[in-house]
Amino acid sequence: MNELPVYERFHSWQGEGLHLGKSAFFIRLHGCPVHCPWCDSAGTWHPEHKPEYVDRISPTDLAEEAFSSGCEIVVITGGEPAIHNLHDLVHEMRIRNLPVHIETCGAYPIQGEMDWITLSPKNLALPIAENLSLADEFKIIVEDATSIQNWAKQIDFVQFGVPTWLHPEWSCSQDESVLSSITTWIKEQGSPFRAGFQIHKLYQADEKDNRSKPVAALCSEPRK
Ligand code: SF4
Repeated sequence: MNELPVYERFHSWQGEGLHLGKSAFFIRLHGCPVHCPWCDSAGTWHPEHKPEYVDRISPTDLAEEAFSSGCEIVVITGGEPAIHNLHDLVHEMRIRNLPVHIETCGAYPIQGEMDWITLSPKNLALPIAENLSLADEFKIIVEDATSIQNWAKQIDFVQFGVPTWLHPEWSCSQDESVLSSITTWIKEQGSPFRAGFQIHKLYQADEKDNRSKPVAALCSEPRK
């Protein structure tokens, strides 16, 4: 069975997107070759983008932990989780009736049949066509007043017709020009665009709940 390099895993709730508020078991995998400058999970980066020499955890053990948590959904994130073979992990979740969601930049083929795909495109590694048509929702990170326009030139979100969330990049979440650009875009364009936010950060959901702390010695840094 394909063991996976796990950076951290914890029980919390989904703070973004269409499944906002659901009890969720997060599995954050090591490794990302993309290296966005504002990444809030840079602790997962590794000199080798698919690290071979960190401890690995079996899909069965991960699924047992998720099942024991009582979560409604499992969210596989990273890093960039699609660089890993996730077939065994998805299988183990599925036989426990746990819906599996993935959060990916979309630049790599997704290895495993997901119940929900959140595609958050990144300029440094653009999504491949097959992932654009598989996405159940898009999440655009709005870094400045021109971000939305730039993304709309690169991807025809209207064609895909799935919810397209416009999230202020967290360090800009009080920035008037960023927030106004989201409001104006949604008022002018309407569907499929929606205003988004990382609500779990407002609640400090992970910091305040002991069950959200990383559960292994592997997990040396908290979720940011
Ligand atoms: S793709 Fe995601 S995990 Fe990788 S650097 Fe960018 S924001 Fe961070």
